[in-house]
Amino acid sequence: MVIEVVRIGQRVVRDDRVTTHVTLVARAFGAKTIFMTEVNPDIKDTLDKINNTWGGDFSVEFIDSWKPLIKKKKENGFKIVHLSMYGEKINDIQSDLRKEENMVIVVGAEKVPREIYESADYNVGIGSQPHSEISALAILLDRIQKGSQFNKVFPEAKRKIIPTKMGKTVVMKETRD
Ligand code: SAM
Repeated sequence: MVIEVVRIGQRVVRDDRVTTHVTLVARAFGAKTIFMTEVNPDIKDTLDKINNTWGGDFSVEFIDSWKPLIKKKKENGFKIVHLSMYGEKINDIQSDLRKEENMVIVVGAEKVPREIYESADYNVGIGSQPHSEISALAILLDRIQKGSQFNKVFPEAKRKIIPTKMGKTVVMKETRD
């Protein structure tokens, strides 16, 4: 299964940290790419540094507009999964979502255009109360992958954590430079 994420909109400056956290969750919880309109170009550098230290090849792609991306992804067989508090209950549709091959998950910032609801194959509510795109994305990715995302190996990591009961154990990969 290939999972990608699209972040629609951002309240300039105010949402910088939220967008970074959405991106970190997407990477850590098994998505391959996040697409976003370029609001803070530094986010690419931030994620390059994280990949360099902690491994993997998660990518941040800047787009001009979500519409052509969603159209192309649909043509290529991806299902569009839009996270919205108004959507169907995650408990009711998680088994259908797990059967899908590839999907693009759409998260909003402010009010999301109506066309997103209409073009989505699934509008999914993580409960019907407003909370956050960060929590909604994390819970959706966990429900779909049932925790298996945490067994994923991030190749070429310079640092690797050995989970321990107490304290911090980090293995550093030797480099030749
Ligand atoms: N009032 C806004 C709306 O009409 O969608 C809420 C915006 S909320 C701050 C930003 C994003 O978080 C939403 O676009 C949605 O992707 C996600 N989100 C927030 N609560 C959610 C929930 N209960 N279920 C699913 N997604 C949620």
